[in-house]
Formats: sequence, structure tokens, C-alpha cells
Amino acid sequence: MRNAVVVGAGPNGLTAAARLAREGWDVTVYESAPTPGGGSRTAELIEPGVRHDVCAAVHPSGAASAAFASLQLERHGLTWLHPEIPLVHPLDGGRAAVLHRSLDDTVAAMPAADGRRWRRLVAPILHRFEAVNAFTQGPLLAWPDDLVAATVFGVRGLWPASLLQSMFRGDEAPALLAGLSAHSCLPLDRPFTGGLGVMIGALGHAVGWPVAAGGSQAIVDALGSVIRQHGGRIITDHTVLDLRELPPADAVLLDVSPKQFVSMAGNRLDGRAARPYRRFRYGWSACKVDYVLSGPMPWLSPEARRTVTLHLGGTFDEVAASEAAVQRGNVHSAPFVLVAQASVVDPSRAPDGRHTLWAYCHVPNASPLDVSDRIESQFDRFAPGWRDLVVGRSVRTAPAFAAYNPSAIGGDFAGGSMAGRQLLARPKLAVDPYRTPIDGVWLCSASTPPGAAVHGMCGWNAAGRVLQTSGSYT
Ligand SMILES: Cc1cc2nc3c(=O)[nH]c(=O)nc-3n(C[C@H](O)[C@H](O)[C@H](O)COP(=O)(O)OP(=O)(O)OC[C@H]3O[C@@H](n4cnc5c(N)ncnc54)[C@H](O)[C@@H]3O)c2cc1C
Repeated sequence: MRNAVVVGAGPNGLTAAARLAREGWDVTVYESAPTPGGGSRTAELIEPGVRHDVCAAVHPSGAASAAFASLQLERHGLTWLHPEIPLVHPLDGGRAAVLHRSLDDTVAAMPAADGRRWRRLVAPILHRFEAVNAFTQGPLLAWPDDLVAATVFGVRGLWPASLLQSMFRGDEAPALLAGLSAHSCLPLDRPFTGGLGVMIGALGHAVGWPVAAGGSQAIVDALGSVIRQHGGRIITDHTVLDLRELPPADAVLLDVSPKQFVSMAGNRLDGRAARPYRRFRYGWSACKVDYVLSGPMPWLSPEARRTVTLHLGGTFDEVAASEAAVQRGNVHSAPFVLVAQASVVDPSRAPDGRHTLWAYCHVPNASPLDVSDRIESQFDRFAPGWRDLVVGRSVRTAPAFAAYNPSAIGGDFAGGSMAGRQLLARPKLAVDPYRTPIDGVWLCSASTPPGAAVHGMCGWNAAGRVLQTSGSYT
């Protein structure tokens, strides 16, 4: 029987392990933390019985993941819970830009001409959703299986959000686009930001923006269940600092950052081979606040009370100014804030009468700033009176994220910057970005394609390459 060792039990390491275990490999996963999960854990952070997603909370990418579908995680306890509305972007005066599950409803809520333009951007992706989705779940530089789908994505993908927004006249569509595009963790005048925003928005129509019942931990638990069902094991409290510590294996898959890979490889990687991994650039981090509330958030916008996910920050220009400030090394006084109120659809998160609120804004890499007061100023703007509901809060800064997860360099939470070539070529320009210069050693973290989010596709693709290379799978 062939055997594999996986270092790191984040969503990508676990998915790689699950795929190999299902193919009959003997798999062992080593995880440095006391529990598996990486950026997909759920924990009681403030008071007993109230469960918060420590990092990832909302899962359009998980719901669209070919890996999770193939592993049939629903049979291992994962249930997606969908709010009535996937995403709401409040505007002043109780108004909001709304991403409905249906494209027709989304378009109908915009001024007529803007609605027509929004449809022209999104509808072609939805018409070929399966193929476009498959294209974006692997290395973008690979030859596409469906050239039309790649073209549909490519034509939209290139544009900066700042250029796409100039198509619209009202403030709803640009605001929606700004919030979606800000998931790139880049200033909104950079190429690809608009395309990424349109694609994430299209996911809302195609698969929704769900949360996992019980918390994001349920995804990790389901992956762990697949691994164990096929005889694999997960060993926690075990940090791997050097590849030489590992038992002999047919394949070693690393769910870690390129910087860690270089350090673990030591002198097995000469200077030239190490260079692209050393030069890999890390991106923004987050300052995050979790709350226990005694009631639901009193959003001024009625739609905002019917969703889990909100983008706070107002107009396109305001969101763009917030993200530009992060790029300059600052945090804006009115930052763009991502919010999830999971307890709106998942009563299991909190006992009767309690609610959870998860919120973060982008901060520069390694910034020690606690900007929770700036995050809260956005709540004052869009949900006045919310302070009366606060039972408890917990803040996590960039250094705290770095301490929580050794893969999060400087608190980087996207597996590395998406700027420039790193969007297309992660971690380096190569036909096979998962293969490392060391025989039998593969990288499978979010620093490989398709990048950040809880979808497991980096691990799935890396395991696929291992299977192909070893002749176990064609
Ligand atoms: C605040 C925040 C909010 C987010 N929100 C969302 C969201 O809503 N939706 C979404 O899809 N994504 C979200 N993400 C991103 C998502 O969490 C990550 O993209 C995803 O977890 C990456 O998975 P991974 O397996 O590549 O790495 P990770 O999740 O980082 O896992 C790596 C694992 O490897 C372990 N490890 C590292 N080094 C070693 C070592 N030397 N030895 C042993 N073990 C090691 C770590 O402890 C960790 O458990 C968010 C992230 C953050 C921080």
C-alpha cells in the first residue's frame, strides 16, 4: 500500500488526505494545533455554549467546491444553511444593495439600466456555470477543458473594479461590486479585482452564500470523518519543523506557506530552487471582532435582517478608499467591514436569546492595530442602538492570527498576496505549481491554485497530481 504524510490539517491538507485515503493510500496528517481545522475552526470564544467561527464563516466557495461534492461531505454530517438573501450591502438611510439568490431579483432591485448591465456581466457566467467554476478551481494558467468558459471568465476577469463600476449610474451596483471585489484583498483599481468580484457574486446566484450548520468546524469534522473511514489518522499537537522528521512516505503534502516550506526543506533546497518560494509575497491580514449579543442586530435596512453576510462601508468610493488605505500601510477611519450573523439561520450557535456576530476589516500585514472601534463605528452607522445588545466581545489582531496559525505569515489570511503574477502563478510560475523541487514533496496550501477560501481545491488538485504521478490514477 502506498503511503502519504500530510503536514497541516487545514481544509486543504485534510482534503488532500481524504482524496488519497479514498484512493486506498495509507495517510497520516500532522497538525501543530490541539485540534484540526486551520482557518475553519469553531470555538467558544466568549461565553460557554456560544460558538463562533474563529476564521472562515461563510462558504460560497465551499458550496461550489468540486472536492467537497466528490467527497460527499453531507454524508459525513455537513449541512449548508442558506439565508433568505445571500448578501446585503447597506447604504445610508436604511437603503441597501442586495445580492438575491435569483439574478432576476438582483437586477430588479437596481435602476433599470444598471440592472441590464449587471445582467450582462453575470448571466454569461451563470449560463456556463459548471465549466467556468471548474476553470477557476484549478491553476488559471493551465490549458482549459472548455475554451468558451475560460474566455467568458477571462473577458470579465481582467478588469479592475474601478473600471467596471463606471458602467453604472446608480450607487447600488457599484457598492455591491466594491464589496465583492474587496475579497481580493487588493486596492480596487488593480486588474482582476472586478472580475473576481463578479465571479464571487455569481456564486451567490449559482450556489448561494451558506454557513455550515454548527459552524465551519463541521466542514473539518466531515473531512476528518472521510479520512478515518478510509483508515487514515490525524495526529494533533505535532509541529513539523524539518522534513527529515517525517517517516518515510511515497508522497509528502505540505499545507503550509512557501516560507515554512523553505525552512522545513533546509539544505535539501539549494539557493536557486528556493528563490521563488523565498520571494513569495504575503498579503493583508485582518482585525476581527466576535460578539455575543442579547438579540438580533437592529439593522436599518430590512433586507439586512434577512441575510447572514453583510458588507459595510457605503459607496464604491468609500470602500475603495478603505482598501487603498490598507495598501498604503494604514487603516481608514471608516473601514470596509465584512460581517456574518450566523445565528440568523443557525440557532445551534447560541443558546436561547443569544446571537453571534462576526466582523473583520483588512489591515496591513503584521499590523498590531486593534481597530475594533473603527469597525464599531460602521455598526453605529448602519445599526444604531446595537451597543445595547452587547453581552461580550473578543478581538483578534494580525499578530494574534499569526500566533494562532503558523501558516498565516504576518497574519496573512489568503495564503499570500493575490497581486500581480501571484493571482495566476502561485507559488511560482510552473506547469505544475503543486510539485516542489524536492522529489515526492508537494505544496497543497492556499498558496497554490486556486488560492484562499475553504474549498479544499488546492489539496484536492495536489492530491490529484500525486495520484497521476504515482500511476495510481489517470
Ligand atoms: C479572519 C478570517 C476570515 C476568513 N473568512 C473566510 C470565509 O468566510 N470564507 C472562506 O471560504 N474563507 C475564509 N477565510 C480564509 C480561509 O480560512 C483560508 O483560506 C483557508 O483556511 C486556507 O486553508 P489551508 O488549508 O490552505 O490553510 P490553513 O487553514 O491555514 O491551515 C493550515 C494548517 O496547518 C497547520 N500547520 C502549519 N504549519 C504547521 C507545521 N509546521 N506543522 C504542523 N502543522 C502546521 C496550521 O496549524 C493549520 O491548522 C478567512 C480567513 C480568516 C483568517
